[in-house]
Amino acid sequence: MAAKTKHRIAVIPGDGIGKEVVPEGIRVLDAAGRRFGIEFEWDHFDWSCETYRKTGRMMPADGLERIARHDAIFLGAVGFPGVPDHVSLWGLLIPIRRTFQQYVNLRPVRLLEGVTSPLAGVKPGDVDFWIVRENNEGEYSEIGGRLYTGTEHEMAVQESVFTRHGTDRILRYAFELAQSRPAKHLTSATKSNGIIHTMPYWDERFAAMAKRYPGIRTDQYHIDILTAHFVRYPQRFDVVVGSNLFGDILSDLGPAVAGTIGIAPSANLNPEREHPSMFEPVHGSAPDIAGKGIANPIGQIWSGAMMLEHLGHAEAAGAVERAFASVLADSDILTPDMGGKASTREMGEAVARAVERA
Ligand code: ATP
Ligand code: MG
Repeated sequence: MAAKTKHRIAVIPGDGIGKEVVPEGIRVLDAAGRRFGIEFEWDHFDWSCETYRKTGRMMPADGLERIARHDAIFLGAVGFPGVPDHVSLWGLLIPIRRTFQQYVNLRPVRLLEGVTSPLAGVKPGDVDFWIVRENNEGEYSEIGGRLYTGTEHEMAVQESVFTRHGTDRILRYAFELAQSRPAKHLTSATKSNGIIHTMPYWDERFAAMAKRYPGIRTDQYHIDILTAHFVRYPQRFDVVVGSNLFGDILSDLGPAVAGTIGIAPSANLNPEREHPSMFEPVHGSAPDIAGKGIANPIGQIWSGAMMLEHLGHAEAAGAVERAFASVLADSDILTPDMGGKASTREMGEAVARAVERA
């Protein structure tokens, strides 16, 4: 099926540097659009912690309906000092991820030329893998509560939920992704020695799915040793799949291994394309540098490349990736987090120019 050439995108810049990096993502995608014949209609929604302070809600009551028919959601970052983190999480991010069945959280971990890894001896090309995090269920459930509050028997209980439907669909996605890669290697994060109900179930479904993909080499590690391996042997991984909690941890550690947090992208995918998927940088609103115009826009731009790919424009996505890779590798236009002096806008403009020749 030929990809559409016109897309309506819901844009949520959010808070802090989200407002600064989103325009650069749009600038670069518009440049790619001009080159590859794709037209974007950017529909802006100013949902943020500021909205919350004024209205008591992160987004209006009909917010989800208003973005349900867009082709994708392009998000900056939400969260700001003074508003508790769970407000932006449960008031915006989680409802979007769950309502639109964005059950895959996908993050590439790739060390690019021109970026220094905090790990000694790791070179670009050594680190190139994907983290697939279950994004809808697992440990982040609403089931639980407190008992005997105020007494010495006080306790808090939180249940994890691993459905067969939810577990199988994330594992299937991870196997399919591994299948599409040259190394065809899939690693599963588990902890079935300590968590004796849900994790053995996860392992069992993983083994059942593996039977359907005989060409894929699989292994599994307990989450504790796996985090150590990320740091010691990042070269060994190809695709790594984990539950909501383990995937969350790994998908922050992975980008840290591959350099600055300012360049890491992520996608919240509804692979069946029944609902919009959402694309956002890994970093948060970075209140410490907000308003200064010095945030690194590459995480947002790379998220935009993932959006292009999801919308069916692989060639344009490739051009955007080559464009920011060349700016990072060869130019002196770098933001302060990478040791340069360029502004957010200068870096966005440099990538947009590079797209025209990438
Ligand atoms: P969240 O809770 O939303 O994850 P956080 O406060 O934990 O947010 P970030 O907002 O990502 O984390 O900021 C962590 C650090 O990284 C801060 O010092 C911030 O300035 C820096 N940082 C984050 N994103 C960028 C960026 N795009 N460019 C430069 N520095 C960044
Ligand atoms: Mg954080």
